[in-house]
Amino acid sequence: MNTVSCPFCGNKEVKETEKVISPFNQKIYELMECCNCYLQFFVPLIFENVYETEIIQEYVEFHKGRKNYPVWTQAMIQVIKDKNINLNHKKILEIGAGDGINYIALNEICQIRPENYLVIELDPKSIEQCKLKGITKIINSVFDKNTISNINDTFDVILILEVLEHQTNLREFLELVLSLLNQGGLVILTVPNRERFFINEFNGDLPPHHFLRFNKKFFKKNFANHLVFLKDYSGNQKYSKINNIKPAALKLTSILKLNRNLWILFIPLIPIIRVIIDFMANIKGRGIIAIIKNHKAVNE
Ligand SMILES: [Zn+2]
Repeated sequence: MNTVSCPFCGNKEVKETEKVISPFNQKIYELMECCNCYLQFFVPLIFENVYETEIIQEYVEFHKGRKNYPVWTQAMIQVIKDKNINLNHKKILEIGAGDGINYIALNEICQIRPENYLVIELDPKSIEQCKLKGITKIINSVFDKNTISNINDTFDVILILEVLEHQTNLREFLELVLSLLNQGGLVILTVPNRERFFINEFNGDLPPHHFLRFNKKFFKKNFANHLVFLKDYSGNQKYSKINNIKPAALKLTSILKLNRNLWILFIPLIPIIRVIIDFMANIKGRGIIAIIKNHKAVNE
């Protein structure tokens, strides 16, 4: 009997889509899809802290502090501008702030005082970068019941950029988020789009790093009345950077199962492949950005 139930809606009608061996811990995970809410999730849903160890290349950059805005930050800034969302002097909570780069990006378009910006981040090395960026209110912890019991505050805007896909209990996570949101407040979130092309180009999209996979259909179905914005976005990610030619060429040797020393032969191909990948990303966006509004009364 199938004992797996969906970590969002609790439905027991789930189907297995594939099995993977994690490159991070060599454990076997099964990718399931919920027939009710359309969430895809890997089982077992057991959290492991892969953030401080830098086993995933991204975190090396987090710990040094990123210089360029990632595509999800760019997408967030664009939608705030397009929809004329006024964040001046608003109370903002950012969950999983990483190196604090979103705080810097937001301050380019609005006035956010450090006393109005609270960060919850579990990785102490990333927190050092947040402090360097002028963020003063920081809780070094996972986002859970225990952590939020110490927050005697609610917020106008909650930012959850590239965080939902890491969760092992999505239902509880979102309930806790909404409990901290003011009436009329907004949750701005981004996640990788599981319907993008080349889903395996970045192996960080695997457990125990990412456990959940989303598409736009998931948000349309489950947040219908609260969803005020939903879009997939493309953006030019790391593949457009010159200094990433060697890693990209090395990746090609590994995909083609060739000797790593042959990477140099692939250098001329990389720019062409990047153009193709970027073109295709415009057809099916790499990421999804959604804005959810709290219509409920505060004490409802
Ligand atoms: Zn479900």
